[in-house]
Amino acid sequence: MRSIVVASGKGGVGKTTIAVNLAIALAQAGKKTVIFDADLPMADVGIFLGQESAPITLHDVLMGEVPLKDAIYEGPAGVMFVPSSLSLESYRAVDARKLAAAVGELEAFAEYVIVDSPPGLNKDVAAALACAEESLIVLTPDPPSLTDALKMKILAQKSKANPIGIVVNMVRGEKGEVSRKDIEAVMDLQVLAIIPEDPEVRRSALQQKPFMVRSPNCPASQAIRALAAQIMGEAGPAPEVPARRGFFARLFGFLKR
Ligand code: ADP
Ligand code: MG
Repeated sequence: MRSIVVASGKGGVGKTTIAVNLAIALAQAGKKTVIFDADLPMADVGIFLGQESAPITLHDVLMGEVPLKDAIYEGPAGVMFVPSSLSLESYRAVDARKLAAAVGELEAFAEYVIVDSPPGLNKDVAAALACAEESLIVLTPDPPSLTDALKMKILAQKSKANPIGIVVNMVRGEKGEVSRKDIEAVMDLQVLAIIPEDPEVRRSALQQKPFMVRSPNCPASQAIRALAAQIMGEAGPAPEVPARRGFFARLFGFLKR
């Protein structure tokens, strides 16, 4: 089983969107895949899947009340998911360190576990990172997101959630966006996918139906499918990055010292 946490640092960059749709892409490719909602404070996964009223959630499992298998549900395209509870009361009662043990139990059910994580660099994030052996770092192509992503990569390395690559999300192709080359130079990590800003993503969120299912050929879906292929090792290696460092790479060079 491979466990991959989708992490970012900054909130609102598309972690849950990517975790949910990547998991669906893996399921569509025939892999037994579970989405594990380790964003305990927000617990968005059920909402993104249009199934937010699960009677038993991860919270019940973490509080020792039910076995994990009772909190595994089936979502679109055969993807499985373990939702969190939406209640703030139950969030406060939970010991987040038990999260990692719960992911370990999914070995019996899954080939891939995609872990959604909260934003920030706090104890909730540390608990989510501890759930996985690999991490995908999501960022948007702007300097604040890049700075936070770099901190997240360091945190992931400390936590042994080996960073396997970067997903650049909400790319508009506008002047002033940080380039792929600069992102790779600053992060010292390969960009595995570039997901365009796509109106279909928001429409799908409003309808609570993931775009991988609703519009399998929209630009965002194509990018997520390519990401899934990279992760499964079915795509060729991403192109080499030229050695020359651009403006943002030089600007951010000091952060790594
Ligand atoms: P996070 O989990 O990092 O907080 P979300 O996945 O909840 O972020 O996404 C935040 C918002 O951005 C949502 O409204 C989502 O629909 C939107 N969004 C995410 N990715 C894209 C994209 N590629 N194009 C357009 N909107 C996007
Ligand atoms: Mg989220």
